[in-house]
Amino acid sequence: MPVTFTFAQRLQQLPPYLFAEIDKIKRAVMAEGRDVINLGVGDPDMPTPSHIVAALQAAATNPANHQYALDQGKPALRRAAAAMYQRRFGVALDPDAHVLPLLGSKEGIGHIHLAFVNPGDIVLVPEPGYPVYHSGTLFAGGSTYWMPLKKENNYLPDLTAIPSDVARRARMMFICYPNNPTAVTAPLSFFQDVVAFARSFDILVCHDAAYCDVYYDGQKPPSFLQAHGAIEVGIEYYSLSKTYNMTGWRVAFAVGNPDMLAGLAKVKSNLDSGIFGAVQDAAIVALNGPQDCHAHILATYQERRDLLVSGLRACGCPVDPPQGAFYVWVPVPPGMTSTETTLRLLQDAAIVTTPGIGFGPSGEGYFRMTLTAPADRLREAVKRIAALHLYG
Ligand SMILES: *Cc1c(COP(=O)(O)O)cnc(C)c1O
Repeated sequence: MPVTFTFAQRLQQLPPYLFAEIDKIKRAVMAEGRDVINLGVGDPDMPTPSHIVAALQAAATNPANHQYALDQGKPALRRAAAAMYQRRFGVALDPDAHVLPLLGSKEGIGHIHLAFVNPGDIVLVPEPGYPVYHSGTLFAGGSTYWMPLKKENNYLPDLTAIPSDVARRARMMFICYPNNPTAVTAPLSFFQDVVAFARSFDILVCHDAAYCDVYYDGQKPPSFLQAHGAIEVGIEYYSLSKTYNMTGWRVAFAVGNPDMLAGLAKVKSNLDSGIFGAVQDAAIVALNGPQDCHAHILATYQERRDLLVSGLRACGCPVDPPQGAFYVWVPVPPGMTSTETTLRLLQDAAIVTTPGIGFGPSGEGYFRMTLTAPADRLREAVKRIAALHLYG
């Protein structure tokens, strides 16, 4: 008898991972030898600041870093995270109870369900949105209730539109601001509403703050933990990936409710054995060290945002400038779907973008461009788009 390799149902239920699909098409266009401008995947194009790389190099020679790391991360990393939250948000955290280092926030986002979601439990997930909130729900046997994000609600979920029988069966809710893919920020008053909603229906809140330090015009987005009572209902994921161009390093942390962090830590202690100690040492340097590198990163995205938004507007595209994150959420040309637009841009302009529908049905009518390419590439992209006369 031949051995069969049928994937388990939990894998069969997963939607195709968006970027893997787009990458396939991109490769095909590149194979034709064309000059492809990749504004698809949200991954910083700039290197990690050199003082952070130097800290890793030095720390890699320390034999103490060659052994299994502590599951809860080094105390100095947890202290650095707490100190940053105090400085940046005015939020006081106990480094021993309120901070859990992660192998990137994706890992902690995808694993939290295993700690708190039973089969049949509902998880409230925004769409359009980051795909991992839903994948984690499927892996835990939960079922996703989609919260649409609409422009008329400033891309915030309408909590009053969630039926109360759904809210009562819901165990957990995900939110993400600054938002990927719509690039809006949420006001603190929204987080306050989420805390009240969570209390009314006994729901655990997970706020994905991967982009809270990527913002424009000096308008710093708030932390969920600044909302009164937030630490009693939820956690927030903070990542070094986007703030310090460290996506490849896999270092982030969750902060907030100690019981939720304990559940996540218990799952993790059975799946991983902590972050490489040298990466933790470098993360400590990133958080505690000089922040002019971060100011430079912000200024770079600001310049790119301003030129892409004004370029698209000059083409007749009524695009809103992003408030946070390094994405531009662009309305499609009249009469075209997001998939048609993306294919047209790829085939006729060799520009990789992401169709809004790929992030959820409410993403239809938009496509996403990233700001993770140099200014001259964005200028070239605008030139190519202008030549297509898509917006009349
Ligand atoms: C990039 C991204 C993450 C993942 O960040 P890591 O810390 O590198 O895992 C999480 N959430 C959103 C919305 C992202 O875009």
